[in-house]
Parts: sequence; structure tokens; C-alpha cells
Amino acid sequence: MTPVLRPSPIAATVDFEVDGVQHGHLRLPYSRDDSAWGSVMVPITVVKRGEGPTALLTGGNHGDEYEGPVALFDLARTLKAEDVHGRVVIVPAMNYPAFRAGTRTSPIDRGNLNRSFPGRPDGTVTEKIADYFQRTLLPLADIVLDFHSGGRTLDFLPYAAAHQLPDKTQEKRCFDAVVAFAAPYSMKMVEIDSVGMYDSAAEEMGKVFVTTELSGGGTSTAFTAGIAKRGVMNVLKHAGIVSGTPETAPTRWLDMPSDDCFSFAEDDGLIEPCIDLGAPVRAGDIIARIHPIGRTGLPPAEYRAKLDGVLAARHFPGLVKMGDCLSVVATMEEAH
Ligand SMILES: [Zn+2]
Repeated sequence: MTPVLRPSPIAATVDFEVDGVQHGHLRLPYSRDDSAWGSVMVPITVVKRGEGPTALLTGGNHGDEYEGPVALFDLARTLKAEDVHGRVVIVPAMNYPAFRAGTRTSPIDRGNLNRSFPGRPDGTVTEKIADYFQRTLLPLADIVLDFHSGGRTLDFLPYAAAHQLPDKTQEKRCFDAVVAFAAPYSMKMVEIDSVGMYDSAAEEMGKVFVTTELSGGGTSTAFTAGIAKRGVMNVLKHAGIVSGTPETAPTRWLDMPSDDCFSFAEDDGLIEPCIDLGAPVRAGDIIARIHPIGRTGLPPAEYRAKLDGVLAARHFPGLVKMGDCLSVVATMEEAH
């Protein structure tokens, strides 16, 4: 028997059933030293007109990834009710404490929101945010777009992605939305460990779910912010919520066929990249060397590609620690 969960402590200052544009907050009580009866205030916008599908658009699931917040703060400011058939719910910075701190996880509880689902209404601040999305916002949605980038420690080729799913009808709807997003690359994505992810929570509810990895390094660029802005409008048009046809752009399909895509550092040290993002690689090619930094005169460790493909992601900072994800090699597909 499913245990009965207590209600979420989060109160929305917007009404999801009212037509028009509302800017407000998800107010989460958080009592602490500098604010005895204080709250975490997560910005939210609801744009609604009449009946129709609902899109749930999120950025800042990780606090140091910026294309989503840039595109979604911009969309929240500019989207008009008359532009919409149905409803658009915009949360530009889901893990708001992490976003304000510029860190992947929350400075309050170290919570990684994208490993915290389904969350708990009586848990940590991060678990309470997850629970609110799990039980209140996701059930409202027909289509869910969650922006990610590499954050401070990874850098990616700019891609939109969906996962391979047991329900092939749902999977096709997800990949159709990836096509509509029209990022320079489109990925059939495999997760290292999908437990606790927002992605899985949305997919298990049968939603059309699209995610992205748009560059990284703890910042955005004009190029990647442009991809995000175009992509979100394309997804809204694809869903029939905004009128018009998606603005097409060439995309190259990538696949992550197995765990052989990933390389993890087994050494601490100084990275010497031997192949840059987007470059073709063949199995056996050296992707990077890790130079020991404790003394001179020692040879670097060599990290080689395990399959043919293209370098799709890399560790971003110049120094690496044992266990860090060093690289992702994706295979290139002809056409989808
Ligand atoms: Zn992320």
C-alpha cells in the first residue's frame, strides 16, 4: 500500500487555473538563524489561456547551469497570454538556493535536486522542492522541458536529448520533441545512474520529456543561449501551445550505445586534452593524458576511446581528481 504523504509545505502564490500572466513564487518555509520564520522563494510564471496542453519548463535544476535560466527568465518576461493556447508553467531556477549560490547542489543541505526525486514533503529543502514537482507540477504537464548544461565541471556539445523508454509510443513522442527543439546535436541519452532523477519521474508518469546539455563550464555563451531560446519556442510550437511551425535547423544525431561511452579518471592530475569537443575519434585514440603533478619526470596516464564516434563531453577544469568523469564519446548516426 502506498503510504499517505502529508501535504507539501510549499505554497504557490500563483493560481494554476486562472487565465492570464501571473508572476509569483513557490514559497517554501525555511526557518534558520538569519530568518526565524523565513522562506525560500522560487520564482514561477504561469501563462494560461483557455483549454489546451500544459508545458512545464524548467532551468536551474543544477544551480551552475545557465542556458535554461537565461532562456526561461526571458520567456517568462515576454510570453503573453494571447500567444498561448493552453498553459505554460515556467520555473527558471528549480533548485533556487543552488542557483543563487552558483553551485550544482544546494548550499542548505547539499541536495542534488536531480538525484532527489520523488522527494519528501517532510525532508530537506531540496527534497521538499522535488516532492512539489513530483506531486503538484508534473501531474499538470503534458510536455516537460528541463534544461541542463555541464555546469562548472563538464562541457558538452550542445544537444537536446531524450531517453530510450519501454513505451515506444512515448519514446517516439519524446524524440519528436527533441527534433522540434532543433539543437545542433540530438542525443539518445544513457544515464550513469538514473535513480532519483527528475527525468525518470516525468517519464514514469508518461510525460513527453526533453532535456538538454548545452555546453557548460559554469557559464553560457551567445551561441548556446540562442540555442536555448529558439529551442523552447520550438517545443511550445511543436506542442501546439504557441502558434506557428518550429524554426528548423540542422541537427546531427548522436547515440550513447553503452557504458563504453564514459571514461572516468583513475588518476589525480593535470589534464592535457588530446581531442576537442566535436572532433571525430576512433577506438584506441588517446582522448586525454593526465600528468602527475606531485613531481617531475613521471609519465602521464593515457586515456583512450573505447569506441568510434565523436567527443561529446569532457571534464572542464584543467585539474582532475580520481573518479571524475573525464569524457563521453558518442556515436554518430546518419539520420533519425
Ligand atoms: Zn544539470
